[in-house]
Amino acid sequence: MVSHTKLKALYLCFNEKFGNHITVSGIKRILTQHGFGKGNLKVSSLKQALDALNLEANAAIDYEAFCQIFAKEDLTFYEKLCKGALVVPRFKVFTQDIEAIYHQLKTVTKGAVASYIPELKHVEKDAFSISVCTVDGQSFQIGDNKRFCMQSMIKPVLYALALEEKGLKHVHKHVGREPSGHGFNELTLNAEGLPHNPMINAGAIMSCSMIQAKKTPAARFKCIVDALERLSASDKITFNNAVYNSEKDTADRNYALGYFMREHQAFPKGTDLQRTLNLYFQACSIELNVEILANIAASFAGGGRNPITNTQVFLPETVKNCLSLMYSCGMYDYSGEWAFSIGLPAKSGVSGGIYIVIPGVLGMAIYSPRLDKLGNSYRGIEVCKALVEAYSVHNFDSILRCAGKLDLSV
Ligand code: GLU
Repeated sequence: MVSHTKLKALYLCFNEKFGNHITVSGIKRILTQHGFGKGNLKVSSLKQALDALNLEANAAIDYEAFCQIFAKEDLTFYEKLCKGALVVPRFKVFTQDIEAIYHQLKTVTKGAVASYIPELKHVEKDAFSISVCTVDGQSFQIGDNKRFCMQSMIKPVLYALALEEKGLKHVHKHVGREPSGHGFNELTLNAEGLPHNPMINAGAIMSCSMIQAKKTPAARFKCIVDALERLSASDKITFNNAVYNSEKDTADRNYALGYFMREHQAFPKGTDLQRTLNLYFQACSIELNVEILANIAASFAGGGRNPITNTQVFLPETVKNCLSLMYSCGMYDYSGEWAFSIGLPAKSGVSGGIYIVIPGVLGMAIYSPRLDKLGNSYRGIEVCKALVEAYSVHNFDSILRCAGKLDLSV
């Protein structure tokens, strides 16, 4: 049901903004300024409606045409846009800062690509891209936007799916929530004989055991891809079969972890270990790019609501639990230092991707496959350090307001 009062108010707002001369080019300009440029799906229906008017770019849009364009749109969102009240109001300035960080780091070639999964070493070593998506759907992307496998970056999603299906109590009968203090694939369990947390290999294998356990392997894999599609509003999520086979053929450690957990009766009753491991390997071989990953991170930032489609993909409670563990355990053996100095929930993967979540504000994804000694993307970490140095986004920065850092919300 269209609210004419709201439409009228929006028309007045745009009129004021454009000095009583609303035009197609004017509307497109403010869309671009605020992060709704080419390819941004959030505003695609509005852009189509604008083009369908067949007006000269600078011809005035009257009230009737205005209603035609906006009638089916989310008026509250466009009112925020018009008033400059989106979550990152000075989006252009922010993305210029990200662009500067990108250029500063572009020539850095420190670190080495992962090779313990043989296929991973065939990537383009110096690929580099960054993408941002806010909880209002404002987006930005720089770099080559190469595709890469999710690897460990899928772990928060596996945990979220297990939580949604089985509930917190059941899930944590099978996996702990403490940092392990050991490597991500260390052959170790906690004092209860369970994996330490869902962000390390053993814990993610455990999450897989709880995802649609009674369904076929195809249905279980589809359930993971569906979740990613709903979190990202993308239909461009693919699967790298070469990486999958390469990992499966060399996965002695993950097999060992699986058997070790089975020996300790850590799995839910009836778990098919081989199928569970296959599902884990498949999930790690799902491929995307930073643009898609930033959208996923933005859905986490929005408490499980996709900023583009407005659909609630995961419960806020699920996301809160997920973010808590990403905060304490998401960055391998750098997690403590990360929580201390960056202060944001994040997850990285050996393929060289990292995504970070600024709750209530935005998600950011970085891809640069050269890894540091702890297995995190070298340039990825540097991007985050630069971000936190410039902007007051560390979880506890709020207690030192006005300490010379920029504020994303003004
Ligand atoms: N599939 C990888 C493994 O299990 C994930 C490693 C990672 O990204 O941390 O070894």
